[in-house]
This record gives sequence, structure tokens and C-alpha cells, in this order.
Amino acid sequence: MAFTLAINPWVYVGKFDGNWSGDFIEQEHLSIEEEAALSTEELEALHAKRNSFPDLPLVNYTSQYGLGCFEGAKAYPQKDGGMKVFRPEENAARMAKSMIGLGMPGVDEELCVKAMLGTVKRNDDLGFTVKYDPEWEKDNFLSASAIYIRPFSWAEPGIGVNLSKNPWVVVINTPVSAYFSGDNFNACTTDMVRATPKGTGWIKCDANYVIPTLAKTKAVQAGFMEAIFLDAIEKKYVEEGSSCNFFALLKDGTLVTPELGDTILPGITRKSIITLAKDRGIKVEERKLPLSEVLAEAKECFVSGTAAGITPITSLTHEGDKTVFGDGKPGETSMSLLKELKGIQYGVVEDRYGWMVSVD
Ligand SMILES: *Cc1c(COP(=O)(O)O)cnc(C)c1O
Repeated sequence: MAFTLAINPWVYVGKFDGNWSGDFIEQEHLSIEEEAALSTEELEALHAKRNSFPDLPLVNYTSQYGLGCFEGAKAYPQKDGGMKVFRPEENAARMAKSMIGLGMPGVDEELCVKAMLGTVKRNDDLGFTVKYDPEWEKDNFLSASAIYIRPFSWAEPGIGVNLSKNPWVVVINTPVSAYFSGDNFNACTTDMVRATPKGTGWIKCDANYVIPTLAKTKAVQAGFMEAIFLDAIEKKYVEEGSSCNFFALLKDGTLVTPELGDTILPGITRKSIITLAKDRGIKVEERKLPLSEVLAEAKECFVSGTAAGITPITSLTHEGDKTVFGDGKPGETSMSLLKELKGIQYGVVEDRYGWMVSVD
């Protein structure tokens, strides 16, 4: 179930009509045991029904012109029971910013957080949840599961090219396991362009996923795990992965990540890693990161995101030349930061910043 569309029954549908309001909606379902007993075809048909919202228009500014944005958050089953969401208020704030960036009214952040927590809670009560498994501790939670929370915007009916004035915000949940799996942590650069200055690279919007998806598919076909984008103008600086932020640990111990600007997505995982690294006394720099510096000076690299967590990059191939970092295995610092972050998320390491929010 790497990234299935097994949408859980409870969804939230909110709408802006001068004010934000909405409802939790219980989509068609059977009991968890009955669904487990269905044939694959029957289950897929049921999931397809749950992925259908008759009230949402087919033709609108999102489906036609890509004027939509979304979020990705996760609810983690806790070692001592219950479900907690990692920094949901950060996702709600970014969702509002993204919507405003696309010229539409930003979602009410409180309503968005309530929708995120409320869907997970209601689905959990029905048994559509993920249970904590102590086995996950053995591989630093690399193989652990969670509930993925996906809020997204959807514009009102429209065929002319226009901005949305009365968008919907929908929140769905689906179970997820590891995003990057296996032991291939080799990445390559791509010459495709993800984001340009004065563009939408800083917005978590649908349109930004077109080129990365093409680039990543090509990279995967060539045997790599991920495609790394360089800046659009000079093609000299490392920017991001296809849907994740980039970090390099230099041989002198400095952790560097590209500085935020209009071409970098402000990742919540990125921000959290910076906090955790600084706490350990690691020198962290947010600045332009030349590819040449990564290739010559990095001893570890990794990418970060809600889906990726912290995923090591053990080599980077640029224009056919492969550079291996350190001993070619996932780096010690990367894995230790991963262990701490996942530990906080799954409730085995103290949540000293109050990042985890219970759905109860
Ligand atoms: C979502 C996303 C990230 C990661 O952000 P998180 O908040 O850490 O999940 C990084 N880059 C891009 C392009 C993204 O869309």
C-alpha cells in the first residue's frame, strides 16, 4: 500500500461563501472486517465511490487550468496509543498562503486544522486507522505506516480563465507506508525546470507537480530513486527534489539547505530538521547551495518531506558522472536525525516542542 487511494470513509468538505463553513461527511463503507473480506474488484469499486464527491463541479478553474493547491500531513499511531498529527497548524497556515498565492480566499486555518484532526478521529473511531507496531523501531520507522491527510482546494464552476472566488476545501485520509522503499538511494540531477523566479515554486500547488512528475518518472526509469532540480537561471545551484527539500552535510560538519525564496517550497519537515539539528549544536546554513560544492564537499545528503520523512541520498549522478557520498551507505547524521524525527512523530522520543497534536 505504498500510496493507495484507499480513501477512508470520513471526509470534510468546506466552502467559502463570504465565510468558511463545512461538514464532515461519512462516505459509503462497510465495517473494517467486511471490507477486508471483499474481493479486490469489490473493494476498488467501493474506494472509487468514496473518491467521488458529486457536489464538486467537473469543469472549473482547478480541473481545467490547474488553479488548485493542496497539503500533505500525517497522523501517526502513538506507541502509548492514540493518534497524533505532526504540526497541523503549519499545514493549515501554508494551505491558506498557497490559496492566497493563487488569488483565491485563503482557508480559515482553524477550520482546516479541525477538519484534519476531525477526519482522522472519525475514521479511527470506525477502525479505519493504523495500529502502532513495535517492529517499526528496528529500522528507525523507515517501514512504518501512518494515516496521510490530504487537504486540497477545488474551484467553483467556470470555463473562462479566471480566479476562484468561492473555493471548496476538501480533506481526505488514506493509509500510507514508506514513500521511498528498498535500498536504492541513488539520485540524479535533472535538466528540467521545476520553478522559476517570480513563479509559483513557493506555493504547494497542483501545477508545480507537472514537471517534477515527468522528471522523476524519467529518473526512476533510469534506475534512480529521485530527480534533483537545479536553479532555472544559472543551472548551478541545487534547489529541491521532485516533492522534497534537499540537505547536504558537508565534510566540515555544516548542514546546508537551499534558502527559501520564490523557487523553494517551505517544507515543514525542513523547518523541523533545522530546529533538531541546531539543538544538537550542528551548524546549519540556509543559503544558495552550489552543485559543485555538494559534489566536492558533502559527506551525506538527504531529502525531506512529509511523505519522504528523511530519505538518504547516497549518490548523485550529474550529466552521467556519479558522485558517491561517504561510504555510499545512508549517512550517520541523516539516520540519527531520521530516528529522532520519527521518534517524536511515533511517540517514542519526547515531543519537546509540542509538535504533536492529538486527534482526541
Ligand atoms: C510538500 C513539498 C515539500 C515538503 O514539505 P513538507 O511540509 O515537509 O511535507 C517539499 N518540496 C515540495 C516541492 C513540496 O511540494
